[in-house]
Amino acid sequence: MEQTLAGRTALITGSTSGIGHGIALLYAQAGAKVMLNGFGKPEEIAKARAEIGAAMGMAEAPYSAADLSKPDSVRQMVKDAVAALGSVDILVNNAGIQFVAPIDEFPDDKFDAIIAINFASNVHAITAALPGMKARNWGRIINIASAHGLVASPEKVAYVSAKHAVVGMTKTVALEVAKLPITCNAICPGFVRTPLAEAQVGPLAKAHNVSEQVALEDFLLEKQPSKRWIEVDEVARMALYLAGPGSGGVNGAALSIDGGWLAA
Ligand code: NAD
Repeated sequence: MEQTLAGRTALITGSTSGIGHGIALLYAQAGAKVMLNGFGKPEEIAKARAEIGAAMGMAEAPYSAADLSKPDSVRQMVKDAVAALGSVDILVNNAGIQFVAPIDEFPDDKFDAIIAINFASNVHAITAALPGMKARNWGRIINIASAHGLVASPEKVAYVSAKHAVVGMTKTVALEVAKLPITCNAICPGFVRTPLAEAQVGPLAKAHNVSEQVALEDFLLEKQPSKRWIEVDEVARMALYLAGPGSGGVNGAALSIDGGWLAA
């Protein structure tokens, strides 16, 4: 494929699975040197490192096991990425978790973890990576927010709050770097076909005593007018566009990729 990221370095959080993995693979195929991060079974992490390493012509991709709920670990991850890659030209804040409960039943520890991982870690990573981008006079910051960064759904108070904060933070950083060749944007996907998201269909079908197709369209994708999953590769291609040539005028945007959710 076209080597639009040749010579670039990228740190992609939460890239051992799902959307982050898809972005890391596409960036590697486009010529970037990437560092992975995220949890998982050792054999799954080894597989991702080998697969993405192969796309970069390496035995394995560099990897950080940093726990993004801890600010010091986030900052250390950025330092480790600079040591492994030489720089962090592109930062993709992707790692995220979810927990669903009514606000008056929402456990404090779950709320704090979602705010720390889905939002605060993005700020700490940007704080650590931005001085290097300024010194090299180029940078791309891409925050994977959500349709829930722009609209709410019930029982997702922590997730919706964190993702709205990501969109607000994205705009603030964009204004601060506006005169530099650095951009900061958010991607706001609807429901994306990842193993975790797909795993919700079976239980929903059982709970409502309907087929998996009906559960998918009427319950999980209730708000997604296309009634189909967004594919990981579609999100990765949007992230590639934002990191690649020709997107320098896009700054502070919250780009929807949601099958029409926000249009309704
Ligand atoms: P996923 O569960 O497949 O991947 C999440 C990644 O984050 C994994 O690599 C996991 O190990 C990592 N992670 C979780 N907690 C971490 C921690 N404390 N420290 C370091 N890494 C940690 O999920 P996904 O669906 O690919 O989601 C990726 C991002 O996209 C998230 O921010 C999510 O909110 C967002 N998103 C997902 C969807 C969807 O439908 N899948 C929709 C909109 C937005």
